[in-house]
Amino acid sequence: MLAAYAVHPEHSRGRRFPEPPHPYRNDFQRDRDRVIHARAFRRLEAKTQVFTRRYSDHFRNRLTHTLEVAQISRTIAGALNLNVDLAEALALVHDIGHPPFGHSGEKALDAAMREHGLFFDHNLHALRIVEDFEQRYAAFRGLNLTFEVREGIIKHSHDYTVNDHPELAEYLLDQRPPLEAQLIDLTDEIAYNTADLDDGYEAHLLSLEEIRAGVPVFERFYREIEQIYPNVPEKLKFNETLKRVLNRFVDDLIRTTQARVSAAGIRTLEDVRSHPTRLAAFSPVVDAERKQNKEFLYKTLYYSPALSEEKDEAERVVRELFIFWMSHPEALPHNYQDRAHEDPLPRVICDYIAGMTDPFILEQHEKHCGSGMQ
Ligand code: MG
Repeated sequence: MLAAYAVHPEHSRGRRFPEPPHPYRNDFQRDRDRVIHARAFRRLEAKTQVFTRRYSDHFRNRLTHTLEVAQISRTIAGALNLNVDLAEALALVHDIGHPPFGHSGEKALDAAMREHGLFFDHNLHALRIVEDFEQRYAAFRGLNLTFEVREGIIKHSHDYTVNDHPELAEYLLDQRPPLEAQLIDLTDEIAYNTADLDDGYEAHLLSLEEIRAGVPVFERFYREIEQIYPNVPEKLKFNETLKRVLNRFVDDLIRTTQARVSAAGIRTLEDVRSHPTRLAAFSPVVDAERKQNKEFLYKTLYYSPALSEEKDEAERVVRELFIFWMSHPEALPHNYQDRAHEDPLPRVICDYIAGMTDPFILEQHEKHCGSGMQ
């Protein structure tokens, strides 16, 4: 039973190119399936989330991170009687525009573009992937996704203004996105806040003592677990604790969002859209815990010396390849050379690099610039 303020598939603003209805899947289920069948989605498997394979081969990559976000989003959307299919489609597509090498790749690509007065933004890139680069259908370019999924790609984490981005005017930039899209940024953070503690601990980059001292919500649950399971191995206490942290974040997001929707007297999707602020939120107490968790990860992990060499190397690979193709556009694949007749060369190179997996960009770097990562 969908809430009245959920996105109902029959009220979708539809696709750019109208298509006949499918006999047993609604439009958001079809969009979810189109995302899963996209090449850019498959490539997430070989893109770094935080850790490369150097430390272990059971860390999250961008694909498994994406699946965790989708799983958490389905649970939350379901509990709020929102459209689970739309939330799932949005979660599955939320990181599809990410370049290789995680945040370092994104930073290097943006810096290279800024040298030419341009920039790189993974949400805008994701929109171009689904609108243009994916080619599966005879009748049109792109995946021909519904308006609501394209809108969610643009609005799930960020408020763009029509002044800065007139090309996005069709996406109702002066309105809030539906709750299904509002959830995604928060579930994304629940997923990586907990997963990165896990992967950091597994990699021995974070010790249990450090996490207990730096993440108060973790410490509280860990003390409880020590009472309940005094004799189990440390890793299992860790897992039990982390599971409770994750549940606390999810539970709070569901309850707080529900309470805010009720308090604001929200009845319809139009009410959600015209509300002055986003309604999906954590409570102040849990939001403070979320921030502590996130700040701890920045301080101890994302900017840790252990990862910095690999990050510098990643940035160097992106930068050198970008410069190489700027001076040797004839070395680009033919379809990219053709595109350079219409789009500025830096944009074409940026699109090419952004689509690459980690192994492929290293191969390209070895081929054109001499030496890959050590
Ligand atoms: Mg993400």
